[in-house]
This record gives sequence, structure tokens and C-alpha cells, in this order.
Amino acid sequence: MGAFGEGFAPFYSHGRHHDPSAVGQNQAFIRTIARGGAAPKMSSESYNEILPVYDAKTVSSFDKYKKIHAASIADPSKYWGDLAKADLDWMVPFDDTKVLQGDLTKGDVRWFAGGKLNVAYNALDRHDPDALALIWEGDEPNDIRKLTFGEMSNKVSQIANALKAKGVKKGDVVTIYMPMIPELAMTMLACAKIGAVHSVVFAGFSAEALASRIQAAKSEVLITADHGLRGGKNIALKYIVDQAMEHITDKDLVKNVLVWGREYKEGSSEAPYQMKPKDVRMDPLVADQRPYCAPEPMDAEDNLFILYTSGSTGMPKGLVHTTGGYALYAKHTTKTTFDLAPGDIFACVADCGWITGHSYVVYGPLLNGATTFMFESTPVYPDEGRYWDMIQRHKITQFYTAPTAIRLLMRYGDEPPSKYDLSSLKVLGSVGEPINPEAWRWYYEIVGRSECTVVDTYWQTETGGHIVTNLPGVTPMKPGSCTLPFYGVDAVVLDPATGHIVEPDATGRVEGVMAVRQPWPGMARTCLGDHARYMTVYLKPYPGYYFTGDSVQRDEEGNHFITGRVDDVINVSGHRIGTAEVESALVAHPGIAQAAVVGKPHDIKGQAICAFVMLRNGYEESDDLIQELRLSVRSEVGSFCSPDMIIVTPSLPMTRSGKIMRRILRKIVAGETDTLGDTSTLADPSIVDTLIDKVGISD
Ligand code: ATP
Ligand code: MG
Repeated sequence: MGAFGEGFAPFYSHGRHHDPSAVGQNQAFIRTIARGGAAPKMSSESYNEILPVYDAKTVSSFDKYKKIHAASIADPSKYWGDLAKADLDWMVPFDDTKVLQGDLTKGDVRWFAGGKLNVAYNALDRHDPDALALIWEGDEPNDIRKLTFGEMSNKVSQIANALKAKGVKKGDVVTIYMPMIPELAMTMLACAKIGAVHSVVFAGFSAEALASRIQAAKSEVLITADHGLRGGKNIALKYIVDQAMEHITDKDLVKNVLVWGREYKEGSSEAPYQMKPKDVRMDPLVADQRPYCAPEPMDAEDNLFILYTSGSTGMPKGLVHTTGGYALYAKHTTKTTFDLAPGDIFACVADCGWITGHSYVVYGPLLNGATTFMFESTPVYPDEGRYWDMIQRHKITQFYTAPTAIRLLMRYGDEPPSKYDLSSLKVLGSVGEPINPEAWRWYYEIVGRSECTVVDTYWQTETGGHIVTNLPGVTPMKPGSCTLPFYGVDAVVLDPATGHIVEPDATGRVEGVMAVRQPWPGMARTCLGDHARYMTVYLKPYPGYYFTGDSVQRDEEGNHFITGRVDDVINVSGHRIGTAEVESALVAHPGIAQAAVVGKPHDIKGQAICAFVMLRNGYEESDDLIQELRLSVRSEVGSFCSPDMIIVTPSLPMTRSGKIMRRILRKIVAGETDTLGDTSTLADPSIVDTLIDKVGISD
């Protein structure tokens, strides 16, 4: 078992008390690794203090995890083949001898090919029609809708028939540009029902970004809504769509623009927006359809959807996910990582414009027959208690958000969550970035009252679902670490220079880039219309492996710590420094809400560290504060990491999915502002000029 070692002591017998010192030890580990030295000896005992307190029914012990994981790697066809038969309804069974075909070297992976199934059927029609499928809460807390599986199934059939009536066929790409309303989830599922390929474009994107995604996918149908609502503000989606249409060079490409009307009243003849020649009002069209549509038999390898990455590191990539493998992986990871049980109310507050919304708002929970919670608003509307209020009112059992939201809410202190009854919670999830131990601890102690498992789920748009994560009651938690690989994921750490698997040093630790050695069902199969790019970005850098693009450290017990993007790694005097470590030290200061660090060319050191920080409410920029931050980095990471430049900024360049775009900061500090690259996924493009001014002043 090598990497997983025998280091973990059994942990069930240990108490429910959380020992904060363990968090500190973890930081100490990261900082020692960063220095290239030996980490302090961490006793397994101290980990046991922060181990899962929620007992899983699915897999009963860590030993069992190790056995199942090893078996899933040794014989992936058996592991996934058995699950696929048990977990999905097939119209035509797949061939047992051809569960997995192709490989990572050739880039021709196929799972369950030849088998036929329909994902919408599996997600809706096969479940108890009277069970609650979806709870939606709109921008205003009192705007609530609840739908059963039966109601959703009927409406999805009606939407599917409406699409057919507009000429949409199996294999056509349907672009969806909609707010987070139940019709969005149902439109995605309607596409799946008739075998159309959906391409959801996050409704915060500009007209240009939408137009380029429509053109790239040669999508002839666009589905939108008159408007979205976020934080009390009206977002004129239909107006943006009209502008996007102007940007599309091939004027004949889009045949129909189907528009949901949020204020639509049955029988009303008024459209609440300006009708253009290609516009069709969706509500009356759907209302006219029969509530039954036969599910299209899809080959397991037929495309299910296209989705773009967040664009943190460059031009977003349009990844293609297929039917059988994705559905199985979304279902299995949701069930296992969140320890889903009957009656659970599963809340992932991500937007369906991102993979997290696809896998953990729509497909994963519904394929499991669970109740999924869908949220339109922001964490701070109408106030910073919104999440906690929703958890209390809907008795949410699993809650899944991103570190950036946790850090934002931490700024308001411990009081808001403590005002609500959060006792329904069992599992708290984190996704999108490494979660710094400070935020982890707040999430665990204040939100979870030290009684919930925090799952730190590491994955990507490309992976379809979690690939490294702890599992409630099964594998240990460790603040700042996404811990161990998911079942069927053969995670390896490669030497970026040689491409060989890194051998553990004397202490059993390794450092390098994160890769996967075997195909898994949820992996994206190609980049839309550009298989060469898929090969170049993911499979060719290290032949035989899937390359994630992330740097990682693994401790002697097999726990993974993602240290940042490979592209963002800073090299100071020969030390490779992950952005996550320095940023974590900065946000550990009570005055810092968010931090981003990048390297700046330096004559002697190679690179110097530049830090950008956002202050918490009540803190002001001062020489003392800057000094304290330098000290914090020195003591947490090491003196060689002390930032050469610390810039206080009102905000940071974030992608619309809430991730820091360090490449923009890197260009700004290097003075290369004329080559910033693609900034279309920036949430607030005006921040670029503010930062250029700031950096100019402090230089
Ligand atoms: P692009 O690929 O366009 O640069 P992106 O990588 O931000 O954008 P996503 O697919 O949304 O697009 O994000 C995946 C990345 O997010 C991972 O590669 C990793 O860097 C980071 N990430 C996600 N979850 C975690 C986690 N739990 N811990 C650490 N990092 C995470
Ligand atoms: Mg990426």
C-alpha cells in the first residue's frame, strides 16, 4: 500500500473533541516542507482528535477504505462495472468484457461503450414520483419553490417536447444562459432526455464571452430568461443575449432564442422583454406540450454536455463529458463523499454555470434520488446570515461551498452562524481552492460546531467529480489537506522535470505535480472540437498520465496538500514555493480577508514574492500591519518567503467562479500590462486598472 502507509491509528475510538493544536501542526508541516527540511513528528494521536465524528453507513472503517481503494485500482473494470450495473438503469447493457477501453497514452478512453442509457431517466423518472426532488430558494428568502420527482419529470418532458418542436435533435448543442432557477436544472435535464448536448454558460458572463462560446460550439439554439436576480439587483439577461447576437459573426448560426419569462402568467400574451425575430417565448411553448417524452437511448460514450473551465490560468477550455461514465461518477461521488442517506437535504450553493453545479446541484443528488437544494442569491443577501438561515429553515444536512465564501463570511465573526440552529448539518464541503487551515477551523468549529465532517474535495471541471477527498466516518480529516484519493483514482505525484513518480524521502514525504495514472469514468474525454489541445494540456505533458496542472505535497500518511497551480509556483533562490502556503500565512492574520501572491522577476533571487491583500472590516493599512504580515509569513513559512512587496487592495482579480487569477497579477507586477491575455472571465475587469495604479505607486 506504500503511500497510505500504516501510519494512521484506528480513529473511531477517539473522542469528539477538536484539538486546535493539530491545525498548527499541519501548518508546521507545510512550512517545513516548503523549507525543504524535515517536518516535525506528528503523532497520529493528535490527528485522531480532529477525526470524523459522523459515523458512515456506507463503508465502516478506514481499513475497509484501503482495501476497496486498492481493489478499485487493481481492477477498475470490475469496480466500476459492478457499480454501473447496480447504480444506473441501462436500456441496453454494456459488454462486461469491455467496461474500459482505450488508455491515457492514446487519449481514447471509453467507459461502458455500447451500453445505452438515458441520464434524465436515471435522474428523475426512476425515482418515487412523490418524493421531494428540489427545493429552490430565490434571491429573496421568501421566494421558495418545491418540486417532486414526478413534477420535475413531467415538466422536463414538456421542455424536451418543446425543444423537439423547435427542431432540436440528438447531438445538437444547446447553449443555456440562465439564472439559478429550477427551469435551468430542468432545461439541462430536458436536453439529456432527448440526447441534445447542453453547454451552460454562467449567467454572469458578458455578451462577448457568451457569443464566443456559442460560436465555438456551433450551437443553433440558445435558451435564456428575461432576467436574473442577485442580491436585490436585476440582471438583464435577455438584453445581454441581444448584444451577444450582435457579436456572432455568422448571422445564420443561431436559429432560435428561447426565453423563459420569470414573471410569466399562464395565458398572458405579453412578453416582458423586447421580442426579436428569432425569439420564442418558452413558457407558453412548454405549457402546450405533453408531459411525457420517451427518453432517448444514448450510448454511454455519447456527449452529455460541454462546459468551460473557470479560466484561472488562461483561455477557458471547453471540456466534453459523456453519458455513462459521468453519470456514474457524479452519482457515486455525491453518495460517498457526502455520505448521502435517505431523507437528506443536500445543498450545494454553487452556480450551475460551473462543474460544481452540474455534478453536485443537478446530476449527483438527483441520480441518487436525494432532495437537492438550489440557490439563486449570494451569501450576504439580505445579510451575512443567509446561508445559516437557509440551513435552519430547510434542515439542510449537507452544505457545500467554496473557501472564498467561507473567508468572506468569517469576516463577519462568529455571531451570525451562532444565531441559527445548524444541528441538521452532518457534512460540510469545500471546493475550488485549497482551504487554508484558518478557514477550515472556522468552518469546522463555528459552522459545524465540531460535530460535522468537513470534506475538502479536490477536483476539476475535467475530472467530472471529486478525485481526492476525505470521506465522512471513513478516512481522517486534516485541515488544509484534501487527504486521500477517491475510489478508482490512482493518484500519483510526479517529478515535474523528469515525469517520473517521486520516491518518498527518508521521512516518507513527496513533492511534485499531481497526476492520475489510470482512467476513471468521470474524466472529460476531449476539448470541444480540439482533441489536440486536450492531448497537449492533459495527456502529453507526462505520457501515460492525466496531468492536473496543480502542484502537491504528500505526507508520509498519504495525505495530499495542493500547494497551487504549477503555472503559479514561485521560485525564490532555488526554493519552489506554492502560492497556497504563503497565502495561508497571510490570511492567518486577523486583519486579512483574502490574499494572493505571485512571483516578480528578480535579478539575484530569480523571483521575488509580491503579495496582494484585502483587509477585513475594521482594519486599515499601516506600516505596522505590513510588518506584522511579513512576520507572519516568516514564522509560518520561512524567512526566505518574506514578501518583497505587500500591496493592500480593495479587491483582487477573481474569475466569476470566485478564484484568484494570479496570472493577471503576475503580468501587472512584471509591468507587462499590454499582454494580460484573456480577461473575459474576470468578475470585475475594472480592478486591473486599480491594481496597475497601486503597483505603480509602491514600486
Ligand atoms: P482554468 O483551468 O481555466 O485555469 P480552473 O482550473 O480554475 O480554470 P476549475 O476546473 O473550476 O477551473 O478548477 C479546478 C482547479 O481548482 C483545480 O485544478 C485546483 O487548482 C483548484 N481546486 C479545486 N478544488 C480544490 C481543493 N479542494 N483544494 C485545492 N485546490 C482545489
Ligand atoms: Mg484548470
